Amino acid sequence: MIRKYEIVGLEARQIFDSRGNPTIECTVTVGKGKGTAMAPSGASTGKYEAVELRDGGKAYDGKGVNQAVRNIDTIIAPTLTGMDVREQEEIDRELIQLDGTENKGNLGANTTTVVSLACCRAAANAKEVELYEHISHISHQWEHKVPVPFFNVINGGAHAGNKLAVQEFMIVPKTTKFKQSMKIGVEVYHTLEKLVEKKYGKSASNVGDEGGFAPMINKTEDALKMLMKALKTRGYDKKVFISMDVAASEFYKGRQYHIDGKKLNKEKMIKYYEDLIKKYPIINIEDPFQEEDFKAFAKLTEETDVQITGDDLFVTNVDRIKQGIQARACNALLLKVNQIGTLSESIQAARMAQHAGYKVMVSHRSGETSDPFIADLAVGIGAEQIKSGAPCRSERLVKYNRLLEIEKHGIKYIGWF
Ligand code: PEP
Ligand code: MG
Repeated sequence: MIRKYEIVGLEARQIFDSRGNPTIECTVTVGKGKGTAMAPSGASTGKYEAVELRDGGKAYDGKGVNQAVRNIDTIIAPTLTGMDVREQEEIDRELIQLDGTENKGNLGANTTTVVSLACCRAAANAKEVELYEHISHISHQWEHKVPVPFFNVINGGAHAGNKLAVQEFMIVPKTTKFKQSMKIGVEVYHTLEKLVEKKYGKSASNVGDEGGFAPMINKTEDALKMLMKALKTRGYDKKVFISMDVAASEFYKGRQYHIDGKKLNKEKMIKYYEDLIKKYPIINIEDPFQEEDFKAFAKLTEETDVQITGDDLFVTNVDRIKQGIQARACNALLLKVNQIGTLSESIQAARMAQHAGYKVMVSHRSGETSDPFIADLAVGIGAEQIKSGAPCRSERLVKYNRLLEIEKHGIKYIGWF
């Protein structure tokens, strides 16, 4: 007899992500019900991230995932069949062992991620509980709160065709309800749209990969000034803060940071950030330095009051997070499941960061899908913050819309952090 939580089969398919690139969808069927997940994909990927498996060759410019789909059908499915889908750690341990590499290079981190997430959703469905409740159970995190959204409204770096070095300019509303934060995010976004069109022409309000505007702005301060103008126009300049994902590894060349037409060494970059923090209501800077330089991250963390978040620096990897904690680099972790390749390893990363007093920001990828998983993940693991791009493009909004639903269920908004 098949038991309710017993995995009876896995089915994988090649689908397409928000950039029109192939990605994987996987459905896990259990005795009672099923769960489906889709794999996201980054563009400004960290050097130490687990790696995706792509087919290579001519089709889809080498980005096909047929081999990854075959890996699920022929290697992973026979191994996981018969297991109890509620045992996430055991399932993820099997995936890690089957892969057998440090960086998921054999099966592919896109493959292991999608299977891990689909199992988690199948377990929640079979238990007939909300996904965030099940995640909270497996991560032993009993307090759920709806996280603060960071809306990426101006895109640069590897996500846009302009000359902005900084990859993301985000707005962070200070409210007591997630619903109010959405209202402010959406209103500022549309005000910004008008300002961008007025200054750079109608076509300048076309959006970048994460739904933010990507006009031909060249300098960091020009983007910050435009953001401030949008906030003031709407009367929100005291209610909204600014966050930047610098993604500095992308413009670190020949031991210098190439930004705003200048070449700055790390000492000058620290001064550069300090000046910006004095002039603008900046509360968070992600990846202010290249991904090898724990010391520079530590210096900025020590010398400023703002949140310093490690993304490419940590790659959701407990070994790198441990190194960061020892070096006193950062005070927040950016968490992306596909950087490490399984849900259990991501939960361990969050737990380690939380124990060290770090905040956790759950993140989408620049290549996304219609899967809202990360909304439930953030609530389930007790993350204080989430970034899912602009309030534009359905693959971004599906996550924010899910958080609106969770707040409506009666889960409290974290408010501020
Ligand atoms: C990021 O760098 O935080 C990000 C979301 O971009 P990507 O997915 O391209 O790494
Ligand atoms: Mg980043």
